[in-house]
Amino acid sequence: MISNVLNIRYLLELCKKLKNLGTDQKEDFIRYNVRYYQFFMTIALSGGCLAAIMCLYSDYMLNGTIMPTLIPRLSLIIPLGLFLFFNNKISNYKLNIALNHTMCHFVLLSTIWAVYHLQNKTYFAAGAVTIHIIMWTLGFSSRIRDTILSYVIYFAEIFISNTFNHYDNMDIILALNIPCAFAVMFAQIILALITFDHYLAIKQMEKENVTDELTQVGNRALLEEIVDNSSVKIQSPAALIMLDIDHFKNVNDTNGHIVGDNVLKYLADYVTKSVRKDDYVIRYGGEEFLVILNNCTINEGTKTINKIRKGISKDPKSPVPITISAGIAEYTGDYNKALKLADEALYEAKNSGRNKVVVHA
Ligand code: GH3
Ligand code: MG
Ligand code: MG
Repeated sequence: MISNVLNIRYLLELCKKLKNLGTDQKEDFIRYNVRYYQFFMTIALSGGCLAAIMCLYSDYMLNGTIMPTLIPRLSLIIPLGLFLFFNNKISNYKLNIALNHTMCHFVLLSTIWAVYHLQNKTYFAAGAVTIHIIMWTLGFSSRIRDTILSYVIYFAEIFISNTFNHYDNMDIILALNIPCAFAVMFAQIILALITFDHYLAIKQMEKENVTDELTQVGNRALLEEIVDNSSVKIQSPAALIMLDIDHFKNVNDTNGHIVGDNVLKYLADYVTKSVRKDDYVIRYGGEEFLVILNNCTINEGTKTINKIRKGISKDPKSPVPITISAGIAEYTGDYNKALKLADEALYEAKNSGRNKVVVHA
């Protein structure tokens, strides 16, 4: 992964992928960045504030006293306190980004205020430059447009402050700050690509964790997420189906395990294509699959699974002819109960001749 990041062609590929990302995925990527890096942003911004307060020492060197700049420098404690307080309470990631940049601007504003009280204002040119370091750190979770907007405000603040601070080296201030702003924006693009690369790797890992390697449908880990995780819910009314290949042992014994594997892949694919995108197909064990049809009554579910059963039994694309049996039960909020009922129905389907669907009454 690291050697890839250093490869220009790989970076260009990432650019293309990032550009072609759908709106939802783009939002998910930025949200992920904010969630992941917000802790580091908090540390960076707190450190930036501390550094700005430490400038009291350079104020002392310039003024011979810290008194006139003490309040402007210490005033940063108030926005920092508010930032730390609200930072963890915010659930909207866009507000997090805005709050980070606002905090960064408070560092600049308190510096401008302190400089107002300095006899020698020429060092503002160097002082302002250090704020770009904070701005660069914010790049881990900001969008490029946030940084551009932040810089527009940044330069507006410098120009406005010039009306009362009357910097006699405004040309140097701009000559130093403009290249720094460009460097930070360029670094932002690289940071966006690196964080995007990490995001893609993590998404891939997350997907692999809940995917059955052979059939590429969900695995038991996905089922646990569906049942335990409150953010992934079964939407009632739902139909829970347990399906099982009939005499699959014979398929293996007669045709070999590779053909058996192909049958499993074929079945998983067939079922996935026959249900809706927000339904779940999970390989429960060997040749048993659990299908959860969301927002589906037991009657609709029975029709669907019967259609699948009939389709499979006469599909010429099946590696070898197979039949399936299925048990279906209604989900009424209790997953374990529905699973037990679907299991009992499947058992009945097997015991009453196979190649059939039994509905748990
Ligand atoms: P029934 O109609 O009662 O369901 O009979 P069956 O033969 O399908 O059921 P049984 O439980 O006796 O056998 C299941 C077989 O599934 C046995 C096992 O070798 C096979 N199996 C389980 N996992 C895999 C797999 O990943 N690949 C292959 N090829 N076969 C598998
Ligand atoms: Mg079987
Ligand atoms: Mg079985």
